Order: sequence, then C-alpha cells, then structure tokens
Amino acid sequence: MKPGIWSRLWLFTVAYFILVFVNIHLALLALICFTLPVYFLLRDQRKSWCQSYCPRASLLMKIPRSKKQPLRPIPAWLVSEKTRQWVVRYFAMNLFFASMSTIMVSLGRMAPMLIPRFLILFPVNVNLPQFVSLELPHWLTHLSFRFLSMMMTSTLIGIALAILYRNRTWCAICPVATLSDQYLAK
Ligand code: SF4
Repeated sequence: MKPGIWSRLWLFTVAYFILVFVNIHLALLALICFTLPVYFLLRDQRKSWCQSYCPRASLLMKIPRSKKQPLRPIPAWLVSEKTRQWVVRYFAMNLFFASMSTIMVSLGRMAPMLIPRFLILFPVNVNLPQFVSLELPHWLTHLSFRFLSMMMTSTLIGIALAILYRNRTWCAICPVATLSDQYLAK
C-alpha cells in the first residue's frame, strides 16, 4: 500500500457503512468493490488493486496494535490453500443466493429479506434508520441488503483477524486475492 493518499482509502469503507444509514440502496455501491479489482487485474496484469487501491486493506492497516505485545503466529490451516478455496466457494455461493433470491423477489415468489445477515445464516436484527427514503422496487432493496451482508461479513472477519493476528491476515484468504492469483498463474 502506497503512503499518502492511499493510506486514507479506508475512509471509503467507513463511508460505505455510513451511507447505508442514509439510504440502504447505497449498499449497491459494493458493486464498485466487486468490479474494480477485476478491471485493474485485466488492465495491469498484476494485483494493483490489492497493492495500491483497496480501501479494506487500508482500513485493516489502521487497526492499532501494541508494539509490546508479540504477534500471535497465524495458524497454518487458516491461510492454507484449502481455506482459501473454501472462502472463494463461500463467496460464490453467497453471490448465487443473492442473485437467485433477488430474481425470486422480483417474480413475487418470495418476500424480500430486509435485514442484513452475517455469514448468510445469521440474521442481524437491526432496524437501519433511513435518513432519505426512496420508493424503489422491493427486489432492489432486497439486493441492497444482500450486498450489505457480504460487505459487513467480510469486513468484520477481516477486523477480527487483524486484531487476533496481523493487520492484513484477511488478505491471505480474501477471494479477490485467490482468484487474482489463479488468473495470473495461467
Ligand atoms: S486481498 Fe482482498 S482485502 Fe486484501 S487488498 Fe486485495 S482485495 Fe483488498
């Protein structure tokens, strides 16, 4: 991560989680986070997103740690190839569920889920105050909550790993890194 402006990119991650209180549909901005790494990878043929632009990595680097406390060793299983592949599968499944359930909501075959979920399974029963209300189709609101769930889950896991081990432990198992490595190895 470059110094200067790049070290302030974490503000985008914080802004994302604030904007969902302005209006939940702003959670769709996560699409930018999903597409930009692909754009940079194809353009530069290297992981320039991870190296220079990722707001989440910038946020993880901001988590303070005591210099006196020795770093805990990262368990080998946590950053193993098997775990990396499971995380990719989990996010693929998440995207699949989010897309299919959005289609079902749009067809009127399923009620929209209007709460975030942690790790797909655990509903987070919070009533998000909305400072700006917008009348948009239910399927779009449902999709917004699904995107928020993905962003919230990965950010919370990343922060927990940063506190437990090293700041960018999440980067070792992040699906963006795994898929980028697979693409570059071809
Ligand atoms: S591995 Fe993931 S969290 Fe880390 S810099 Fe790349 S995209 Fe960001």
